[in-house]
Amino acid sequence: MALIVQKFGGTSVADTGKILAAANKAIRETENGNQVVMVLSAMGKNTDHLISLAHEITEKPSTREMDMLMSSGEQVTVALMAIALESLGHKAVSYTAGQIGIRTDNAFMKARIKSISTDRMRQSLNEGKIIIAAGFQGIDDDLNITTLGRGGSDTTAVALAAALGADTCDIYTDVDGVYTTDPRVVPEARKMDKISYDEMLEMASMGAGVMHSRAIEFAKKFGVRVHVRSSFSDTPGTIIGPEPEDGQAVVCGTALAKNEAQITVRSVPDVPGAAMKFFSKIAEANVPIDMIVQNASEGGKTDISFTVSGDDLLAALDAVKTAAAEVGAGEVLSNDSVSKISIVGLGMEHRRGVARKMFHVLAEAGINIEMITTSEIKVSVLVSREKAVEALRAVHSQFQLDRPVAERTLRFETADALPAAEPYAVKHSSELVTYMTRMEDTIIDAVALDSGQMRMTLAGLPDVPGNAAEVFNQVADSKIVVDMIVQSDASGNDAVISFTAPRMEDDRLTRLAAGLEKTHGCKASWNPHVAKLTVRGTGLRSHTDLALRLFGALAKAEINVSIINTSERSLNVIVDESSGGKALELLKEEFKEDML
Ligand code: ADP
Ligand code: ASP
Ligand code: MG
Repeated sequence: MALIVQKFGGTSVADTGKILAAANKAIRETENGNQVVMVLSAMGKNTDHLISLAHEITEKPSTREMDMLMSSGEQVTVALMAIALESLGHKAVSYTAGQIGIRTDNAFMKARIKSISTDRMRQSLNEGKIIIAAGFQGIDDDLNITTLGRGGSDTTAVALAAALGADTCDIYTDVDGVYTTDPRVVPEARKMDKISYDEMLEMASMGAGVMHSRAIEFAKKFGVRVHVRSSFSDTPGTIIGPEPEDGQAVVCGTALAKNEAQITVRSVPDVPGAAMKFFSKIAEANVPIDMIVQNASEGGKTDISFTVSGDDLLAALDAVKTAAAEVGAGEVLSNDSVSKISIVGLGMEHRRGVARKMFHVLAEAGINIEMITTSEIKVSVLVSREKAVEALRAVHSQFQLDRPVAERTLRFETADALPAAEPYAVKHSSELVTYMTRMEDTIIDAVALDSGQMRMTLAGLPDVPGNAAEVFNQVADSKIVVDMIVQSDASGNDAVISFTAPRMEDDRLTRLAAGLEKTHGCKASWNPHVAKLTVRGTGLRSHTDLALRLFGALAKAEINVSIINTSERSLNVIVDESSGGKALELLKEEFKEDML
């Protein structure tokens, strides 16, 4: 007898007819001899409707009451489902999160799960009942109702599957699987048979709304097999698990985060700890940030840019303005009409020239890149929102994502990479129980140092389409394998690009710099001896406190960071080589408790 968690999203329970259809999916599993736990979302667009009611009264309702309000949507659905199952002659019981003990912290509207008690659910299952749990909600230590953030029912479902040791977690939704990009935006998108946890986590975090990214963190940490499939048919969907799709695609998919906002802080004193001030303020406001670019300084001052989700802009701006005043920085600028496009793929870690290809496609389409950041398994660019869909289509088509992996003809040279981490769940399953008390914490699996790098910065590049593509073509022509790339906000000014590469002799560096200056009319500066520090784990970007602890540890030791890049899988910073060894020790100490 298997234990199956079935999650149904809003569209899949939008009316009573659909609720009955979903009930029949659960019944079918019980008739096959399996136990079933259903996790349901609010009906249709009910959550949106509840939010708009509150906004009819005030622009800033309190977050506690918003959670009280929003959680009511799920309560309606679970009761109707229990009524449906009983009417069909089956034993069933509906539960709110409070009733089954889904404990969270008290961060209303963004709560994280701390623990789940399984006793009551086990008892109901043993009594032969189908359990119907309300998704999206939790309860804090003071018995306040909390919610997990929009789309959070996926996280409830995978967390319950983890806590109960379910055999599979079926995510029933209005598409029949995970596609190479949102099929409603790019109709040529292709359904994948399977996708790895790391890739799905990055895709979700970068905007692929088909799964809540925190659900994938749970799945990876606890080894839950997730099957994303259609509520309206029986075709097999996409398996999210330890393995990528067969054939090892270099790029598995591309994601669009349409509603992004960019914040730039001008003239930040370039001293250790200044950046830390900003990030700690926004971490306090519980706002995840991305695409952090801090470009090499001029005259002891530097500009810092980063992106936040458009929904978080106001909260982030409040926090940043306070921090800017405290450190004596200049203007704070923001732009809320930008979108982020990312390509994601485990294979990127072992290939060269992938980022360059992306810049090239966008240049050909005449689309200007406002910002760039890369990490081992993704490249993100920021473009104006009005060009975003066009850019997404161009990128999707260029990487041949519409074709099965075996039929793609695009080839990249291979490159070395850090050895892949083993999945935690396999390695540490015996320790799972320990983690039940802090289920949503991050696990760090490595802190590493690469002290053999150089950094180059090109300032004063004209802010026009094609810049990045040309720069990196020229760099590649010099047989230089680029590692990290950042390009910062121009906001009417010239663009600045920084990159790192393996260390090289001084005369080669000077020739490269002179060549780039000549072709692009920019000003090159470089540090021939830098080190890259990597903290690797799961859910690093969305756990804002981790980046903060990293910056904090380095700032305390007066170690300055010149480039930062983040992904869900790793945080990377560039420091001067002379500080590399010390920084490594500090970070190992800082993250000691988070490592298994
Ligand atoms: P549910 O209510 O079932 O949770 P969501 O609306 O949250 O459903 O997620 C399903 C939607 O995600 C799809 O309708 C699709 O438009 C969107 N989507 C975005 N990116 C992808 C992708 N890569 N693959 C499949 N669907 C995607
Ligand atoms: N009903 C919630 C929402 O609309 C949670 C979910 O559907 O996952 O965000
Ligand atoms: Mg959803």
